[in-house]
Amino acid sequence: MTDFTTITACGECCVGCSKKKDGSCPGCIESDGRVPEWAGSGMCKVHACCKEHNARFCGLCSEFPCDKLPQMISWNPEIIKHLSALRDEAEHFWKKNGFAETGATNETDKYTVVVARREL
Ligand code: SF4
Ligand code: SF4
Repeated sequence: MTDFTTITACGECCVGCSKKKDGSCPGCIESDGRVPEWAGSGMCKVHACCKEHNARFCGLCSEFPCDKLPQMISWNPEIIKHLSALRDEAEHFWKKNGFAETGATNETDKYTVVVARREL
């Protein structure tokens, strides 16, 4: 089971990355998208777009798969397939536990709160 608290807006996972381990990158979840790679533009556009759409990652966005995704995440030619698989896994988890999640999330310092509902 994927730990979705470690999945970035673009569907990657910083855990295990050498840059994070050596301290040269704080990780985009922890730094709210302000990582060295995107220093020139202030913050990662994918991260910013997910925040704007209240989505934990692109696969859970109401506009997924949007037209701008292939260009925004150009380094992964399989990005739609990858994000679709993550989305399906997340939805399977919610359904298995009787929840229908809305895709909306709220970040706090320590937790990611996902808005969901369960039919009783
Ligand atoms: S592209 Fe953006 S969302 Fe993806 S890992 Fe890098 S900083 Fe995070
Ligand atoms: S799917 Fe598209 S619109 Fe939605 S957060 Fe990702 S880049 Fe933005």
